[in-house]
Amino acid sequence: MSKYSEHDKLKAISDKSQTCGEFLNWLKDDQGLSFARWFDKRYICAECGEVPEEEIRTSGVRRFHKNNNERCDGDVEYVSAGFQPDTRGVTELLASFFEINQRKIEDEKCAMFDECRAANP
Ligand SMILES: [Zn+2]
Repeated sequence: MSKYSEHDKLKAISDKSQTCGEFLNWLKDDQGLSFARWFDKRYICAECGEVPEEEIRTSGVRRFHKNNNERCDGDVEYVSAGFQPDTRGVTELLASFFEINQRKIEDEKCAMFDECRAANP
């Protein structure tokens, strides 16, 4: 176990992850499949992203976001329930499946670079 625990996890699953990634890319690129998934109805604030229905206000035909803590006034788009394209990429899906935290990976990479720079001034 090194001091880069997320990279240790990544290394431990790299063979499986490689195979799964090749399979997912084969489905998409060779077989022409696209990924979609079911989404319940959603409200998307232009400023905040997805927001709960109870924070939606209307004024005439305008639908906007208003919560109590922040003073957001962003326009809100209503997205009805249904199958919609899943925009997650293969890397993100693999990270989710193998429980790899991509943020930690990036932080560890930065720490490794800092370490290299300190060792080679
Ligand atoms: Zn908002």
